[in-house]
Amino acid sequence: MRKNLKHYINGEWIESTGNETYNVINPATEEPMGQISLGTKEDLDKAVKAARDAFPSFSQTSKEERVEMLENIAEAYARRKDEFIEVMTDELGAPLKISEKVHYSMGYNHFAQAAESLKSIEFMEDRGDHTLVKESVGVSGLITPWNFPTNQASTKIASAFAAGSPVVLKPSEMTPFAAIMLAEIFDEVGVPKGVFNLVNGTGETIGDGISSHPDIDFVSFTGSAGVGAKVMQNASETIKNVALELGGKSPLIVLEDADMKDAARNAVSNIATNTGQVCSAATRMIVPASKKEEFEQAVLDVLPEFPVGHPREGNYIGPLVSKKQWDTVQSYIEKGIEEGANVIAGGTGLPDGLDKGYYAKPTIFTDVSNDMVIAQEEIFGPVMSIITYDNIDHAIEIGNDVVYGLAGYVYGKDPETLKKVATSIRAGRIKVNDAAHDFAAPFGGYKQSGIGREWGDFGIEEYLEKKAILGYPS
Ligand code: NAD
Repeated sequence: MRKNLKHYINGEWIESTGNETYNVINPATEEPMGQISLGTKEDLDKAVKAARDAFPSFSQTSKEERVEMLENIAEAYARRKDEFIEVMTDELGAPLKISEKVHYSMGYNHFAQAAESLKSIEFMEDRGDHTLVKESVGVSGLITPWNFPTNQASTKIASAFAAGSPVVLKPSEMTPFAAIMLAEIFDEVGVPKGVFNLVNGTGETIGDGISSHPDIDFVSFTGSAGVGAKVMQNASETIKNVALELGGKSPLIVLEDADMKDAARNAVSNIATNTGQVCSAATRMIVPASKKEEFEQAVLDVLPEFPVGHPREGNYIGPLVSKKQWDTVQSYIEKGIEEGANVIAGGTGLPDGLDKGYYAKPTIFTDVSNDMVIAQEEIFGPVMSIITYDNIDHAIEIGNDVVYGLAGYVYGKDPETLKKVATSIRAGRIKVNDAAHDFAAPFGGYKQSGIGREWGDFGIEEYLEKKAILGYPS
């Protein structure tokens, strides 16, 4: 059992002013794996004050000092690799391999990439008739979800630190221990007092407090669209800038000339990785009507490559994060059946042989029409919808016919068609075939998937104000 009933404020672990605690549940066992304290508005005020007090000196540190700090953080983070992997397996239910290859690794890459990207940012630039100066946005409030405990927190913190912005972080109460480890790392490498503050607690108290706090200048939120709207509303009262990374319902367009088995493997891995709890996952597989049966068969053939089971036993798909998330996924599966889509694998209930843990059956719906609820709403579980198209313009039209625009995927061979799809999908990140992650590339959404970009130099720019000085003496 992990236990930390303190918050990290002004360079120290301090007792919560409240006495409410929260048990963090291991979704594979349904037993508590740890306990945290739920902070109060008073705790938050202390954290904001510490960040505010740290602002004048931190914002004036040199770029070189901040590069060095980020590099030191990346090194210290890497030294705790094994513990990060264990923690995320226990708090989120991520299979050990996913914990390592996805979660741990993304967190590391954000610190390393921010150090690299920062080197090429010009903070003062002579632009002829004016001088452009980039300055820290001020104090940043960071609110993160449970589905990527290190990725979400690390990209925000790394960008803020690169920009010279002190932060107050509130991670999801369901997965707080990776963030607690980050606080320990910042303490170890000597991040100046007050530059990093961690207040654990609920969204209703601490999240709401951050988004409406008059002494916070900028809020970066990752989570659901509904809460994102609330954050924006709160922030509007003090005209705070916001970055919102919200949900998605991304299309994967399979071209006529694709190898159907490879395309199916790519499709299944999208709904299987992190048990489908991925905002940018492709969940709508848009396939040529002429290839429907071949694609369905290929999906059924590759499905066994992604076994469901205990995250410590070599499985690819672990449990969903919570009973609530399990219930949500079940109700979407029921809804899909009710709407007339056909289930060719999975369905409701627990997978065979698993009677404890929040496991869902990887579920493949076919004969889905794009106006069904299962094709429009984010399910956040291992559920795929197969939708057919007649020609490529039709595929693009279906691909864009959702309120979200976080990501898009295209799988096939013809370069011209790949390019056409990639440039026509209205989303912030498009992946062609099996292209690898690039941590220097911006990440963020069009439409209701959000506002702003994270990762690399685009991520750092979110935390920088732009000042124009006219007549700056040379
Ligand atoms: P959520 O919106 O319920 O919670 C996100 C965070 O906001 C948590 O820390 C929560 O405690 C806090 N919160 C809750 N109520 C709040 C309030 N009233 N004011 C301020 N903060 C509040 O989301 P979740 O269930 O934790 O995460 C899943 C969602 O996150 C999905 O919709 C997913 O698509 C999205 N997500 C988006 C990205 C992205 O980069 N676009 C990445 C990961 C997850």
